[in-house]
Amino acid sequence: MPADYHMHTPLCRHATGEPIEYAKHAVAIGLDEIGFSDHSPMRQDNFDNWRMNLDQLGEYVEKVRKAQKDFPGLTIRLALEVDYLPGHEDWIRELATRHPWDYFIGSVHYVSDHWDIDNPAKLSEWKNRDAFEVWTAYFERLTMAAESKLFEIIGHADLPKKFGHRPTRDCTPLYECFLAAAKKSGCAIELNTAGLRKDCREIYPNRQILELAFQNGVPVTFGSDAHAPAEVGMNFAEAIQLARDVGYRECCQFAKRKCRFIKL
Ligand SMILES: [Zn+2]
Ligand SMILES: [Zn+2]
Repeated sequence: MPADYHMHTPLCRHATGEPIEYAKHAVAIGLDEIGFSDHSPMRQDNFDNWRMNLDQLGEYVEKVRKAQKDFPGLTIRLALEVDYLPGHEDWIRELATRHPWDYFIGSVHYVSDHWDIDNPAKLSEWKNRDAFEVWTAYFERLTMAAESKLFEIIGHADLPKKFGHRPTRDCTPLYECFLAAAKKSGCAIELNTAGLRKDCREIYPNRQILELAFQNGVPVTFGSDAHAPAEVGMNFAEAIQLARDVGYRECCQFAKRKCRFIKL
């Protein structure tokens, strides 16, 4: 099975279970590699309420190190899911120097400075918006994230569908623009199974994006986006099947921000 590269810790304030419990579950279901990618801190701790504070970054690394020590037979990577917002590039570069990270997942949750589209507390915001406009703003930022060369992996590439909103207009040009940027800068996209547990009931990204990604030569990784130990590796069989159905025969794994390909 491919590595599960998207897992959180209680430091982000909306996940449960310590890294050692995630590792234990990973071993129990037969994974041999996982990676912790908790929500990155911001320069300002009051940015929002769903991430660790900056002074907790060391504690995060220690928790992952402890899991590595307790589970020597399991490869455990040290990573972050980093929010991409235009203007944050210097901060992301600074974060990258703080610890010997294995990879960064670049994710867009904010389509503007104040609207994190996946936040259930802001669900009513969708009432004032046209879905295609949200998709356009989202993919504009996702394309910038892919171009930035700050990330090895782009996270949940069609997150706006989370609550079941869907644009009626054709989004193919948005997808193609993003995937061309990913190909050019050499970043992978993840198959994120958390979408199956949300209202959209679908892996991120959708099959069309994945088909275009394969045609464009954009590699893939896999992630459960686990916010609890029991979610580690969840629905991976389905994700692997989808990747194979669109043509993928290999996926990437990362160590110290270097990619290697493994058979799927
Ligand atoms: Zn989260
Ligand atoms: Zn995310």
